[in-house]
Amino acid sequence: MTAPRPAAFVAVGSELLRTDRLDTNSLLVARLLGRCGYGLVEKRCVEDDAGAIAAAVSELLARAELVFVSGGLGPTADDVTREGVSRALGLPLVRRPGWEEELAARYRRLGRTVPPIASRMAEILEGAEVLRNPLGTAPGQLLQVGGSTLVLLPGVPSELEQILTSHLLPRWVRMGGVEARTLRLAGVYESQVEQRVSPLYTRFGRERATILAARGQVSLVLTASGPRAAEELAEMEAAFAAAAGLDLYGQDEDTLPGVVLKLLGQRGWRLATAESCTGGLVGFQLTSVPGASDQYVGGAIAYSNNLKEKLLDVARELLEAHGAVSREAAEAMARGACALGAECGLAVTGIAGPTGGSAEKPVGTVHIAVATPRGARHARHQFSGNRDMVREFSANFALDLLRRALVEDR
Ligand code: ATP
Ligand code: MG
Repeated sequence: MTAPRPAAFVAVGSELLRTDRLDTNSLLVARLLGRCGYGLVEKRCVEDDAGAIAAAVSELLARAELVFVSGGLGPTADDVTREGVSRALGLPLVRRPGWEEELAARYRRLGRTVPPIASRMAEILEGAEVLRNPLGTAPGQLLQVGGSTLVLLPGVPSELEQILTSHLLPRWVRMGGVEARTLRLAGVYESQVEQRVSPLYTRFGRERATILAARGQVSLVLTASGPRAAEELAEMEAAFAAAAGLDLYGQDEDTLPGVVLKLLGQRGWRLATAESCTGGLVGFQLTSVPGASDQYVGGAIAYSNNLKEKLLDVARELLEAHGAVSREAAEAMARGACALGAECGLAVTGIAGPTGGSAEKPVGTVHIAVATPRGARHARHQFSGNRDMVREFSANFALDLLRRALVEDR
């Protein structure tokens, strides 16, 4: 495995230096670059200032083979990326007649004429390749500078992604890419995964596997490069999948709710949810999947005891005897969900915090219950973290408990 080729990223935008906007374009670029043998070695945010842009571009071109600049390509006075780069490279900006017409045509289609300020967007660095931007007006630009490549992209995330994936990535992948596979695990903590896969590091190389954790879900990103990349990746995948065992739910673009719905579809079962502390997060995840309605009928957000009784038919005596956060309550909620009109029920009840905990049931105590035609499952968890984290852990572990029931209980 050769080291990734060095790339760098400059996010232009004064708003990115304040408190209201976060640079997410660099994350997207880093993710996409991983597929074609490059890795970011540095990223910077700079204000809408030609001097600051010029300095960042000059410095980063000296240490990276590929430098991205995102933002500041629009028509307004604060869009000064073109000027900054022109200054850094000592290259003039030229009006490309073809691009002035292209811009005019784009505005005509919208029933408008090019406002005078917008004609700046047809200014291209001398010698640069123009990267068409079908989702917006400002085109990207690509220029060879010495041994490096400089790419200017619009700041709007969807436009940046479109230009990268349609024009640039296919080229770079052809130039000698890396094969990558992401294994997706759930219902497990990062440290547990680390422990199980660490013996494989010596066999395949520590730098070729990355563990990413996200509140109840863990991703293992495996990479291989060189002439045997595909075979090596297949070997790694088999070894890591064996170590992951039943925690493995899918790969690459698979999602946990997507896999759960698919398993339900294979059985011909429908699902209803009963949520307390997650307030609909499980339903939200399920309904994020297109076509979810084939399996997911909906559910109840039964936060109060009163609604647990009314909507889910949980007996008041049960709630009084065991409390709303208990195995008994979760199981009764799961049965109540089934009664809403589904073969399977999934219930979550817990204490998300920061208040409401006790010695017996501290903050983070969560009970999850699953009911299917093949049986019932229950899990008690003690999650740590703030309220949002406890809720996200709960939703992911809940979907995963159902997944395991669908895979194992036959
Ligand atoms: P436009 O033609 O829209 O003016 P532009 O290339 O000039 O394009 P900007 O004006 O810098 O881009 O940004 C447009 C939008 O994209 C803004 O809402 C901005 O907050 C957002 N944006 C810019 N840079 C980033 C970034 N690095 N990460 C996430 N969002 C960004
Ligand atoms: Mg702008």
